[in-house]
Amino acid sequence: MDSLFRFGVLTVSDSCYSKKALDHSGDNLELFINQSRSLNGKVVLRYCVPDEEKSIENILIDWTDNHRLDVIITTGGTGFASRDVTPEATRNVIHKEANGLSMAMFNYSMQKTPFAMLSRGVCGIRGRTLIMNLPGSKKGSQECLESVVAVIPHAVDLLREETRNIEKIHMEIQSLGHDELVRSSSGGHSCGRHREEHHCHKHPTHERSSVDDLKVARRPRNSPYPLQSVAQAQEIVLKHADLLGTEVVDFREAIDRVLAEDIYAKDPLPPFPASIKDGYAVLSSDGAGRRIVIGDSIAGQKPGMGDHGGGYLMPGECLRINTGAPLPPGADSVVQVEDTNLVREADGGRIELEVDILWAPVVGQDVRPVGSDIAIGERVLMKGTVLGPSELGLLATVGATCVLVFRLPIVAILSTGNELQEPWDGPLHPGCIRDSNKTSLMALIGNKNGFPILDAGIAQDSPDTLVRHLHSALAAADAVVCTGGVSMGDRDYMKDVLQADFGAKVHFGRVLMKPGKPTTFATCEFEGKNKLIFGLPGNPVSAMVTCNLFILPALRKMTGHPSPMCTVIRATIEKDIKLDPRPEFHRVVLSWKTGKSIPVARSTGNQISSRLLSLASANGLLILPPRTDDKNYLPAGSEVDAMVVGQL
Ligand code: AMP
Ligand code: MG
Repeated sequence: MDSLFRFGVLTVSDSCYSKKALDHSGDNLELFINQSRSLNGKVVLRYCVPDEEKSIENILIDWTDNHRLDVIITTGGTGFASRDVTPEATRNVIHKEANGLSMAMFNYSMQKTPFAMLSRGVCGIRGRTLIMNLPGSKKGSQECLESVVAVIPHAVDLLREETRNIEKIHMEIQSLGHDELVRSSSGGHSCGRHREEHHCHKHPTHERSSVDDLKVARRPRNSPYPLQSVAQAQEIVLKHADLLGTEVVDFREAIDRVLAEDIYAKDPLPPFPASIKDGYAVLSSDGAGRRIVIGDSIAGQKPGMGDHGGGYLMPGECLRINTGAPLPPGADSVVQVEDTNLVREADGGRIELEVDILWAPVVGQDVRPVGSDIAIGERVLMKGTVLGPSELGLLATVGATCVLVFRLPIVAILSTGNELQEPWDGPLHPGCIRDSNKTSLMALIGNKNGFPILDAGIAQDSPDTLVRHLHSALAAADAVVCTGGVSMGDRDYMKDVLQADFGAKVHFGRVLMKPGKPTTFATCEFEGKNKLIFGLPGNPVSAMVTCNLFILPALRKMTGHPSPMCTVIRATIEKDIKLDPRPEFHRVVLSWKTGKSIPVARSTGNQISSRLLSLASANGLLILPPRTDDKNYLPAGSEVDAMVVGQL
């Protein structure tokens, strides 16, 4: 029998979702599946959704199409109540029904209780995943599952058989586990790791390179790669940065993600005519003058009128009302308390009997009509929107608790160089330096920009070692970022290895810029998927500058970001700056002087690309033009473009 079957348990319940009830059925099913020998399975995904058709559908689609589970068990939402919609949602997403399973469950349950007749569960297949609706009760759901335990492994085997090859590719990637990625992206590290040890070498490590590393004397003395302009290089990278599909996330975890669906309002806001002021709900036709106070309306409650007037406010009456509280039927206007006087009271001021309305109110005064903020059915967020704090608030407002967003690319980061040792690897070995690129890039790509990252370790400058590291990185990630090994040195094998051993297409291998000239970009197909490979120069400043210029825009575009490029603003330079023959990205601190409309750029000093200190406090990169015969420097006060790379 194959590896463990991967199960998902989806609890569909308003009360469990809102934490008013504990998910006993979900817990019990998970335990049952994990402990059942005949099932040969493990629950790898658990989730709870409210009884909302769309939310259920989104999860089922995500778990089948993205996570490719073998079996999804739902519990709950199969009854006769108006909110019981699990069978409807399931039917909307399955490709084929599996009636035999539903009937087997029904027959078995009928032997226990005639109430089984009231369960409407559906079983079916989507892609290669079996989906089964079980009832919501702990006992009922377990009984149903027990009745089909014997046939599930065979059913899954049949489904797996059909897609054996796709499955193989997927299982390799899946074997890295989402937890590991998340841990990496949140920057968790363990100290005391040995040289050459890394996170993602779960793939074969026996590959050898076909690159001949012995013919050093015959290596080319000029780069065969044409120089591209920065703009051309950016365009090429963006052209290859494709979307990676979608996934469903809890709305609270969707910050900075890009929506992959339109979001509509299920109900109007406000859902009732609401008061804008603290005052009195009145009939405007009564005009100014005295009103009897018949009760009050408090936010969060129905207006307190009892059965007075058949529930209607009558002429000559008013109701005390708070901001956000519902107007009573019959009232069409609110008069703020400041525009009233007390006429009569009772019980030592505890009861208001009569007030005087000082000005004649007009219809609709200080009332938010039903749906005036958001109409029912209105599209509140559009596909492609980047979700910020206010957008998450909107999702909360309309109750869109599970949202479809574009997937984030997983990025593996690899350092290359014989001279590198891990920062935690004690005192420096002879001829070695500590690897700083991996830390900087992981912080920039992962912590700061929120992409899931993997530490692909340090590879020595040998074709065989590069092949092994690249193989692991490509198997685990959508994009691989390497530093070092792309220059003209006799030990710079990256481009050759990518082409010879991975069939990669190198789109460019040199860019007309300073720093970052050897920047390389390649793509390849690996295990049926397109991968992006960035070969950045090893110099720490070059690596960071080129990451900002090429990698972050590409990653943003892969997540569906509508404007993936870095922000560019104008800035004036504080002092004269010498120009270089190449367009230069000069590290600066941008700050605003009082009374000035554009920021002043102060150079961070010596710009040599090895000097990471020149980036330490920089929040901008001046985009300096190349030197010409008549212009070899820019005088203080000149205005230039500056790319924003830090907090302004
Ligand atoms: P390379 O691009 O491999 O020719 O390396 C250029 C320079 O960057 C050399 O001085 C390397 O020692 C240095 N370097 C390469 N990789 C790293 C790294 N990961 N951290 C710090 N310095 C590095
Ligand atoms: Mg090197």
